[in-house]
Amino acid sequence: MKRKVEKSEEEWKRELSEEEYRVLREKGTEAPFTGKYHRSKDQGSYVCAGCGKVLFSSEDKFDSGCGWPSFTKPTEEVEEQRDLGHGMVRTEVLCPDCGGHLGHVFNDGPAPTGQRYCINSVSIKLKAKE
Ligand code: FE
Repeated sequence: MKRKVEKSEEEWKRELSEEEYRVLREKGTEAPFTGKYHRSKDQGSYVCAGCGKVLFSSEDKFDSGCGWPSFTKPTEEVEEQRDLGHGMVRTEVLCPDCGGHLGHVFNDGPAPTGQRYCINSVSIKLKAKE
């Protein structure tokens, strides 16, 4: 599948921090309660740390207590893929433009969607409202 943002592994390695590369490109997970945003209540848009695409809004963020930033929905459509890794059946969430790994979505979120988009802080960057 052709993506809007395509880069070689070398380019990604050069442009991303080690931790960003590990999570976004190698589908890693940051340790819970260690990321920059799990407690943040700052207002704004969260964009992809890989390519800058707007993915989530602070308006849909809630405190799930799980140790990662959690949202009831993405701002625009994100890519969702079945993930059978680590002995679990989960739904992986990816940036549609660069294919970067963002986190997973679970069905235990609050109303109105009942969804919990559980996203690595390192995969996103908050752009404050102007
Ligand atoms: Fe992206």
